[in-house]
Amino acid sequence: MAAQKRNMKIIVQKYGGTSVGTAERIKNVAQRIALRRNDVDALAVVVSAMGNETDRLLSLARNVADFPSLREQDVLLASGEQVSAALLAISLAEHGIKARSFLSFQLPIITDKKHAGAQIKEINISKLLQSFQEGEVAVVAGFQGITPGCEITTLGRGGSDTTAVGLAAALNANYCEIYTDVEGVYTCDPKVYVAARKLKRISYESMMELAGLGAKVLHHRCVDLARKYNVKILICSSFNNAEGTWVCEEDEKMEGTLISGVTYSRGEAKISVLGVPDKPGIASLIFIPLAEMGINVDMIIQNISRQNTADLTFTIPAEELEKALYLVTKAAHEIGAEGVHHDRHIAKISVVGGGMRSNPGVAARMFQTLAREGINIMMISTSEIKISCVIDARYTELAVRALHDAFNLGV
Ligand code: ADP
Ligand code: ASP
Ligand code: MG
Repeated sequence: MAAQKRNMKIIVQKYGGTSVGTAERIKNVAQRIALRRNDVDALAVVVSAMGNETDRLLSLARNVADFPSLREQDVLLASGEQVSAALLAISLAEHGIKARSFLSFQLPIITDKKHAGAQIKEINISKLLQSFQEGEVAVVAGFQGITPGCEITTLGRGGSDTTAVGLAAALNANYCEIYTDVEGVYTCDPKVYVAARKLKRISYESMMELAGLGAKVLHHRCVDLARKYNVKILICSSFNNAEGTWVCEEDEKMEGTLISGVTYSRGEAKISVLGVPDKPGIASLIFIPLAEMGINVDMIIQNISRQNTADLTFTIPAEELEKALYLVTKAAHEIGAEGVHHDRHIAKISVVGGGMRSNPGVAARMFQTLAREGINIMMISTSEIKISCVIDARYTELAVRALHDAFNLGV
């Protein structure tokens, strides 16, 4: 039974941490699966670790080391999803549903070697097809992978979404249902602003920007994968039956949307290198050590002063700040820069929308709105369909609400 050559309805579902956070919630998920089971020919269910288990495991590691080895950290974190996969399979059996759990090494889900942020390279579905043939629901531990050398990896925070979409692509599933604690994708985080409006549909392109810029409702890499393999995603709540949001190819109805949403990220920190001699090659001496350590630099700005020196400011993921400061301070000393400053209390606020391409004035409205609220813009970056500003983290919610109102996104 090759999934590609079948005439079967195959669905992949994914339940996030909150949805499987307690024994009661696991039972609720098992009940939902029991009801859904009869509508489909085959069902694969991906689960995240229970509640805040991944955070708990991370803090255990940080209690024994400031910079735990990422290899060992992956071994530790992968255990969270092992627990929830087994518990859901046990609970399904209690509901009279044949089910079997699979860890990623058992399938296997092969990834590259990048610990804490591995990419899926290949998924072997033969065990899943066998399990379907035996009438089982296949419960797969999300977030984890295995390298060709049998090392355990994880896909980065929020990575169970990517496991689900990867499985949906490999199984040629009809679509992928992502169950979470909100009813879909909104015009901004509904936990930050009650006026947020649920979207019926959003294009892969806009969703990719929203996810990449902090809207954690979907892991950014899973949207990329979904677009590549044309996997339709339905995001909905595991707590009710409200209609969710489809993430799919853009259609005529979406083209008219100026702005899909406003999003924020508090996950970055800012470093400034002051009084950098203004000579060719200097910037590379600062950025090469960061690249060699795998630290991603996001926004960069450079101000030239009259004394032939420049100030270079850039953002990096906040969890890499200590490592980055060590490398940048060393490089700054070597090139004769005057000093290094840093700020971890920043937020990146972004407006995203396909309609920006044909509608000038979005940036002006964004800057005007922030100015009216007295919020200073520290850095700006733009792409075809997004504008991002770095601001003081204290004003995150205020900025999100003001921009949401300014672009009339509410209900
Ligand atoms: P899960 O554990 O189910 O994977 P996550 O916490 O990773 O859930 O993602 C869901 C959360 O994403 C929501 O609770 C919500 O606060 C947040 N979120 C941020 N931006 C948005 C948005 N634009 N639409 C919906 N949810 C959003
Ligand atoms: N448990 C992992 C995390 O908390 C993966 C996921 O939830 O998708 O990041
Ligand atoms: Mg998530």
